[in-house]
Amino acid sequence: MPGVLYIVATPIGNLGDMTYRAVETLRSVGRIACEDTRQTRKLLDHFEISTPLVSLHEHNEATRADQVAQWIQAGLDIALVSDAGTPLISDPGYRIVRELVSRGIRVIPIPGVSAAVAALSAAGLPTDEFRFCGFFPRKSGERRRLLQALAREECTLIFYEAPHRIKETLGDVAEVLGDPPVVVARELTKVHEEFLRGSAAEVLKTLEKRDVVRGEITVLIGKPAQRPASEETVEAMVARLEQAGMSRMEAIKAAARERGLPKRDVYKLFERD
Ligand code: SAM
Repeated sequence: MPGVLYIVATPIGNLGDMTYRAVETLRSVGRIACEDTRQTRKLLDHFEISTPLVSLHEHNEATRADQVAQWIQAGLDIALVSDAGTPLISDPGYRIVRELVSRGIRVIPIPGVSAAVAALSAAGLPTDEFRFCGFFPRKSGERRRLLQALAREECTLIFYEAPHRIKETLGDVAEVLGDPPVVVARELTKVHEEFLRGSAAEVLKTLEKRDVVRGEITVLIGKPAQRPASEETVEAMVARLEQAGMSRMEAIKAAARERGLPKRDVYKLFERD
């Protein structure tokens, strides 16, 4: 019988975030494919897991995919982990998963932490629609072009960024997008975890007071601030949008988006009509 490929999420700093199922899975498989064997060895030692490791990174992913497929077809279960968080999310693994899926091999997720979702869950920005954009481009020109292309997005944008580029990047956000609400989530799940909230310029000002910005960073960008929620009820907003020519459904959708509420919650307010 062929084996399976497990995609196993691991902590992004706090080892307490390792799931029971992740530990059990990593103990039970025949081999663990990982980005950096030294990094993953530390994690395995902590949880007393002695499964053999094989390296899998950007440069050997295509050839490894074939080898992993052969192991699985021979009956071995394999786990894939990255250095931290969920594999494939700004990390290697897509090519191997695509290859195995195309060969009809079962791929099973063992879910856990991802910095993007952890940051979104506590940022205080709308969560009903969001777009994960991976790492910002390193060069300012490309970054600005990307931000320009995203300027009309109505949802929360999520990016990964390196600490030594964060100030320059916030400067670009302020220049290209003006004053949308920005959240810089730094060192999530670790001792120095912090959330900096404000406009891009305000967050930049806070960071400029520090000689050096360290740690791992996720950046979230909301859409520009609108009328404060206290000024108008959701029902009144839907009514106003209907009067302006929208259908009831369009108005509900727009009001939900505006307030960062699930559409069904706004819809429920009108169900009795
Ligand atoms: N696969 C990972 C995941 O699911 O979150 C992301 C891997 S990506 C190579 C690493 C980037 O994720 C970091 O450079 C940083 O932007 C973000 N990140 C990882 N850990 C973080 C943390 N503890 N706090 C904030 N951002 C983090």
